[in-house]
Amino acid sequence: MDIFSKRKRSEIMSHVSGSNTKPELIVRSTLHKMGYRFSLYRNDLPGKPDIILPKYKKIIFIHGCFWHGHKNCPRAKRPSTNSKFWEKKLDENITRDEQILKKLEKLGWGVLIIWTCEIKRIEALQKKLVNFIEEME
Ligand SMILES: [Zn+2]
Repeated sequence: MDIFSKRKRSEIMSHVSGSNTKPELIVRSTLHKMGYRFSLYRNDLPGKPDIILPKYKKIIFIHGCFWHGHKNCPRAKRPSTNSKFWEKKLDENITRDEQILKKLEKLGWGVLIIWTCEIKRIEALQKKLVNFIEEME
């Protein structure tokens, strides 16, 4: 049995694909309030990053926990029905993400992944963003 109800499952899935989803908007407005300038969707970069900070040579991806396989996250629990299909699909996503990350790092970009489950805690999110952008980690 799927640990999530049908409604919860479709809610989780609806949050994670496509552009201009809410989590992205939250991260963008958080960055904006912190005074950072960024650009969106440069198609010449691997993985079509969600947010790019050219001045700092940094890239931020906002990843849905389910589709991108957030480790140890309850939202990333895989459906037990149709499991072969999901295992394959989600493993492919994770492999693709890893390849994109390597390519970007090779090009000299610093990459941060923000998981959608992290977005609710704005203070922690701000801290994470600053540490990454200013390299205070
Ligand atoms: Zn998560």
